[in-house]
Amino acid sequence: MTETTTSSGGRPSLPMQGVPQPSRDEVLNLPRVHISSHPVMAHKMTALRDNNTQPPEFYRLVKEIGALLAYEATATLALETAPIETPMGPMIGERLAGGIGVTPILRAGLGLAEGFREVIPDAQIWHLGLRRDEQTLEAMEYYNQLPHRVDLQVCYAVDPMLATGGSAIDAINVLKRRAIPRLCYVGIIAAPYGLLKLSQTHPDIEIYIAALDESLNDVGYILPGLGDAGDRQFGTF
Ligand code: URA
Repeated sequence: MTETTTSSGGRPSLPMQGVPQPSRDEVLNLPRVHISSHPVMAHKMTALRDNNTQPPEFYRLVKEIGALLAYEATATLALETAPIETPMGPMIGERLAGGIGVTPILRAGLGLAEGFREVIPDAQIWHLGLRRDEQTLEAMEYYNQLPHRVDLQVCYAVDPMLATGGSAIDAINVLKRRAIPRLCYVGIIAAPYGLLKLSQTHPDIEIYIAALDESLNDVGYILPGLGDAGDRQFGTF
């Protein structure tokens, strides 16, 4: 994990230094925020955070946590009736009503999106590239593979780390231009600061996370967190 970054002029950049942050308790009961309380999730989160966990295992855990989060985040999806024939005769079954979209925010969201595909194999994957400007922490869009025709009941923006909230807010802004009836954000770890920002900016979306951590450090990394989720998935240290 990078502890300090430097601007092009070589000056140290500490964008969160001195910025007031809400406490964990202050954001615990925000509306539409769901923090997993599943013991299997807690178990996997400890392995994920562990500094000894190497990239292949880390990526596998991100996918598994993504599948668990997908299971929680899809619990209220709409169904429609589906008449079928079983080997024993006719019955009225149920199917998901309308398509499901998953928008991984590149590149760290890729593992989470794979986890979603384990649960919903025919989900559409809409890649979206957002990069954090290291000086300002503003999100910048550099890649967008969102289709023109949209027929979804819900789209999940997925990104493991909800730190300052910049990328998550920007991703939801992009998705809101697509007239999707329901939008959700799914992440692994949130900092109180980013969670509050996202929830205040987009009070109409549901937010699903596996854990709520303590704070952001001066360069905008989550504490205790897990370091850089992209580097740890893809081995780019
Ligand atoms: N992005 C990461 O990968 N980790 C953090 O702690 C914050 C942002």
